[in-house]
Amino acid sequence: MKYCALLLALLVAPALLPPEALRAHDNYDPNEPRWSFAIHGGAGTIARENMTAEQDAEYRAALQSALDAGTAILTAGGSAMDAVLAAIVLLEDDPKFNAGRGAVFTWEGENELDAALMDGRDRSAGAVTGVKSIRNPILLAREVMKDGRHVFLSGSGAEEFASQRGLETAPPEWFATEGRREALERLKNEKLSARDVDVKFGTVGAVALDLEGNMVAGTSTGGLTGKRWGRIGDVPVIGAGTYADNRDCAVSATGQGEYFIRAVVGYSICSRLSHKWRAEAAEAEAAVPRDSQGNPTYAVHASELWLEEEDVQAVADAVMADVKDLGGTGGVIVVSPFGPAIFSFNTPGMYRGRATSAGVNEVAIYGDE
Ligand code: ASP
Repeated sequence: MKYCALLLALLVAPALLPPEALRAHDNYDPNEPRWSFAIHGGAGTIARENMTAEQDAEYRAALQSALDAGTAILTAGGSAMDAVLAAIVLLEDDPKFNAGRGAVFTWEGENELDAALMDGRDRSAGAVTGVKSIRNPILLAREVMKDGRHVFLSGSGAEEFASQRGLETAPPEWFATEGRREALERLKNEKLSARDVDVKFGTVGAVALDLEGNMVAGTSTGGLTGKRWGRIGDVPVIGAGTYADNRDCAVSATGQGEYFIRAVVGYSICSRLSHKWRAEAAEAEAAVPRDSQGNPTYAVHASELWLEEEDVQAVADAVMADVKDLGGTGGVIVVSPFGPAIFSFNTPGMYRGRATSAGVNEVAIYGDE
């Protein structure tokens, strides 16, 4: 059985990757496969009193469709990658969110899009910034990752690569919406900052753990209203707004990107989780009874070890507290092998949803849900 799995791993592994780079989390047990999925549509000043019943229902329906798209794939044994892409493409096409169609405007009145995708099996990644004509930037990020020669492409070069790969384009009118244009005008006329007009960040993201133990993170955004000088946020910066490593977790963020870059949010969460896991393993090993020679009487197997959902929550909350200390607001979704995905945000609300193979399926908006 073991050899079959190894052979399979070798067959599907990209040629240059050592097989050990493709391992799942130590705790992954093929006899007990489980999946977990989460999405977000941005965090911010999202309060009940500012939403009509109709808007509330529309947002919930959009989140539920994105959650359902990924859930259907994972339930059928599909990959974390496909689930993340399916959800993000839907959210990019939805003008309610600040990604793809409905993206915020730059100071010059354009929509410049950023997106990133990371595969936790081997930490391969693809990211794009400042693209203006690609309908679904997350699909371009996937092409960058698949191509593998580079990780991060920008502007006209990214567009040229997209055209070589035959990606669907869209004219500026596809991305532009009235509400976002008004936000830019308000920012300019009233000398406001993006923080004042982007009360809901509206970036979209998804993270998934599939039945094979693979984790993927993806994020897509228009950035912040009134951004200038080729500004790049956290979303396409691997390790900041987007990060996945099968050994730890997968993270997608939303918020004021500058702070998320400075706190290296995605990587920090996964690495703190990894330390927690290792501490747990060391503690379990220390508790094993010793024989007369002082040797452990048995070897602790990783599947005997478990972190709780609360442990993952505590790690993400600590990193978000760090973001807050720097002055930043926003939130993250984190998927790990331990319980359902968790959310952590320091804003009044966050558009979000999560589902698991154990039957969790929920969408939420406000902080008190
Ligand atoms: N994090 C994004 C950025 O700074 C904005 C957002 O989350 O809406 O570009």
